[in-house]
Amino acid sequence: MATCRAAVITAHEKPLEIWDVNIPDLDPGSVLVKMVASTLCGTDVHRWHGPLPKNDTLPIITGHEPCGVVEEVSGEKNDILGNPIRKGDRVIWSYVACGSCYYCSIAVQPCICRGRASWGHNRCDQHPYLLGSVSEYMYVPKECLIIKVPDQVSSASAAASACAYRTVMHGYDRLGAIKDHETVVIQGSGPLGNFAAAVAKDHGAKKVLVIGAPAHRLEVSKRMGADDVLNLETTPDPVDRREWVLSHTEGRGADIVMQIANNAAVPEGLTMLRDGGQFLDIGAGGKGQIPVERMPQQMTYLTVRSGEPRHWLQAVDFLASRAERYPFDDMISRAYNLEQVNEAMNAMANFEVVKPVINF
Ligand SMILES: [Zn+2]
Ligand SMILES: [Zn+2]
Repeated sequence: MATCRAAVITAHEKPLEIWDVNIPDLDPGSVLVKMVASTLCGTDVHRWHGPLPKNDTLPIITGHEPCGVVEEVSGEKNDILGNPIRKGDRVIWSYVACGSCYYCSIAVQPCICRGRASWGHNRCDQHPYLLGSVSEYMYVPKECLIIKVPDQVSSASAAASACAYRTVMHGYDRLGAIKDHETVVIQGSGPLGNFAAAVAKDHGAKKVLVIGAPAHRLEVSKRMGADDVLNLETTPDPVDRREWVLSHTEGRGADIVMQIANNAAVPEGLTMLRDGGQFLDIGAGGKGQIPVERMPQQMTYLTVRSGEPRHWLQAVDFLASRAERYPFDDMISRAYNLEQVNEAMNAMANFEVVKPVINF
């Protein structure tokens, strides 16, 4: 059986190893993709540090944000828009929900399907082996919906659309239309926060305010559409940060607050929201306690998990159609090759980089 090289987590906290992993025969309708870029995400670091959720065991190929070029298609296959997939197409692809459980078939909420397939946590010594993105090849199961990447979108940004940016698009889907009198506060100036700033501005928000750190990331926020930014490091008191939001909103608070940082930011974010506003909670990790008795009156609290296939498409469409307007590639912080995967993972774990890319 042919093999390819991949970055494998063999033990928690131990350096990843470059293994030769089997390239499987293709089942009908499946696709083999030669990887071009894989961005890394905080989740990859969590899985490396462990413990894994129950049912997951090592060894696993790390990474779940892939972009690559079609190497082989088993049979005839179309992309999400109905166009034929051919060898050489640059693509990203969705996760797979089971289609038949309560969440899929009755609630029509496939992102919380209990039988959902996703990448970066599957054993690489069992068929179909190649379900992690820091690998020379990936196997695309037949149920995945495939999105072709337009020329205007870099492979790194396309890879980030396979997790980070599509989650933001899912959040906007849940919020509904932004009205042109509305002010949006975004907590977090990482790639998701800055991407969300661009979408908020583009969708017609009157004012987009980003709260984050450090200063160089807030400079990116401004280029990504933020009307004003607040540096957490130079404004350490949450009372002052709330005052800043109130000063921008005639004392009411923001119409929409998006938490795209960490759960610990939620209680503060709620103090910045006007009565009747919408709170969108995206950032995972950390802990926060909500004082229920002090929540804004008539507010709406929204959370998201992952995305539906259309959100992968929306993210890539946004990157392509607004490529002239926003410097999307400024959000990808540093490039590495496969052999440098440990450097990249350590840099993420130490918060030196936010969104590194492994290029193949
Ligand atoms: Zn991710
Ligand atoms: Zn399901």
